[in-house]
Amino acid sequence: MSNIKRTALVTGGNRGLGAAIARALYDAGHTVIITHTPGNSKAVAWLAAQADQGYGLTGYGVDVSDFRSTQNLAQQIHLDDRQIDILVNNAGITRDASLRKLDKADWDVVLRTNLDSMFNVTKLFIEPMMERRWGRIVNISSINGSKGQFGQTNYSAAKAGVHGFTKALAQEVARAGVTVNTVSPGYLATEMLTTMREDVLARIVETIPVGRLGQPDEIAALVAFIASEEAAFMTGSNIAMNGGQHMC
Ligand code: NDP
Repeated sequence: MSNIKRTALVTGGNRGLGAAIARALYDAGHTVIITHTPGNSKAVAWLAAQADQGYGLTGYGVDVSDFRSTQNLAQQIHLDDRQIDILVNNAGITRDASLRKLDKADWDVVLRTNLDSMFNVTKLFIEPMMERRWGRIVNISSINGSKGQFGQTNYSAAKAGVHGFTKALAQEVARAGVTVNTVSPGYLATEMLTTMREDVLARIVETIPVGRLGQPDEIAALVAFIASEEAAFMTGSNIAMNGGQHMC
C-alpha cells in the first residue's frame, strides 16, 4: 500500500476496537490521535504503556456525546497545529433493556453517544478535509444496526442511523475527495462483550457460523484499508464483518 503519511483521529481509541484501529493506523505509517472520556486516568496510563511499546499516540479527553466538548477537542487539535485527514468515529456504548423496561435516560445516552457523536465530531473536521481535497471518514456501526437485537431498540436505532448518516454525507463530499464508509462488526472480544454473562455469551457464539467472536485486529485491518489511498473509489458503503452471522 502507498506510504503517504496522514494524521488520523480515532474516538474511543484507548481500548477495545478503537485501540486496535489506532495501532493498525500507526503501523500503516500515520500519525495517530485518540480520544477517551475526560478524566480517564486508565487511558493516560494506557497511552504511556503504548509509548513503551513504540506506539507514539497522542490522547485527548473528550465527551463525544456533547457538542461543546468536541468543539474544545477541535480547538486543542488546532492549537497543537495538527489537521485531521482520517477520522474514525468509533466511540460507543450499550445500555440494554427491552423497550418495556428501557429508561428514557438509557435511550438518550445511547443515541447521543453512538449517533449524535457522528455529527458532533465529523462536523468539526469535514470542512478542512474538503478544502485539502482528501479525507477518509470511517463510522463504526454494528451488525445489530442491520438485523436488530432483542433488548437493543436504542442501540439498534442508533447504529442503523449511523449508516444513513454515512450514505448522505458520502454524496455531499465525494467530489471533494473525501470518502465516508460504515463498518459493521459482528460480536467482538472486547470489554463491551466479555463483561456479559457467560451463558448469554455462549448462546451468542452458537449463532456465529465461524464459531467464535471476532478479534478487534481483524476489524482494524479493514479500517486501515478503507483509510488508505487505494480505497478512493469506495464510498457510501457499509462493510459487514461478522463471521457469517448476518449475510446481507
Ligand atoms: P468498549 O466498551 O471496549 O470501548 C468503548 C470506547 O468508547 C472507550 O474507548 C470509551 O472511552 C469510549 N467512549 C464511550 N463513551 C464515550 C463518550 N461519551 N465520549 C468519548 N468516548 C466514549 O467498546 P468496543 O471497543 O467493543 O466498541 C467500539 C465500537 O464498536 C462501538 O461503537 C461499538 O458500538 C462497536 N461495536 C462493538 C461490537 C462488540 O462486539 N464489541 C460489535 C459491533 C460494534 P473510555 O474508556 O474513556 O470509557
